[in-house]
Amino acid sequence: MVLLKMSHLNKIYNGKINVRAISDLNLDVEKGEFLGIMGPSGSGKTSLLNMIATIDPPTSGQVSINGENPYALNFDQLAAFRRQKLGFIFQSFNLLDTLTVKENIFLPLTLDGAALSDMKDKLKRIAGRLGIEHILDKRPYEISGGEAQRTAIARAIIHNPELFLADEPTGNLDSKNSTDVMQLLERLNHEEQATILLVTHDPQAASYCSRVVFIKDGELYNELYRGDNQTDFYRRIMDTLKLLGGSSS
Ligand code: ADP
Ligand code: MG
Repeated sequence: MVLLKMSHLNKIYNGKINVRAISDLNLDVEKGEFLGIMGPSGSGKTSLLNMIATIDPPTSGQVSINGENPYALNFDQLAAFRRQKLGFIFQSFNLLDTLTVKENIFLPLTLDGAALSDMKDKLKRIAGRLGIEHILDKRPYEISGGEAQRTAIARAIIHNPELFLADEPTGNLDSKNSTDVMQLLERLNHEEQATILLVTHDPQAASYCSRVVFIKDGELYNELYRGDNQTDFYRRIMDTLKLLGGSSS
């Protein structure tokens, strides 16, 4: 089943010079896929993710998430759609320093008026899985970068979103914490059939995906499937990045 469909997507930024960031892009993402998006700096990755994240509408073409066109929703419906259907994980964690770890994780549920008992049950399960039980009452500035990213992942998964969008989630982490985060996402994908879209410039992180698409100048350039050998997949990703050229950030 196709969860996310992009049809003839175009994104043009109008200014003194018009920039065509995404050009007639067609891409289907199956439910349960773990899709990586790579490409040189300026190739259109963020523009693409923002259109899918319902943050910035396409100039033309369609985004469809589970058969629904988010851009046809009104303002309030769209806000609810984002909170309920999407889970965001950013490079900068985006945690609120005035709230505890627990309150940060509860935030999306609070906004939808979930019952406290429901929230507590869910939190217990998720905190155990992510290994953050011991920091639930701390504030973001009291925890490490790895713990902050695991907290952000907890916040993104607590409402069982249909689609996870991760923009360089390992960008601010050392290699040990990056590996932890990628293994968590991989488990989420395997065990819950979560559909995940990951923008990354890190071939090591990308090698955890089930498929990687490469973008160049706003167009699909190539795609690779992981198969069952992650080391070989990593090598093929590196080879494709070499062919692509540019700085792949
Ligand atoms: P990437 O994330 O792959 O680095 P972007 O999607 O950020 O690429 O950018 C794609 C192209 O669109 C680049 O040429 C960039 O300069 C341009 N661009 C991105 N955002 C804007 C904007 N808000 N206004 C004008 N041009 C933009
Ligand atoms: Mg970008």
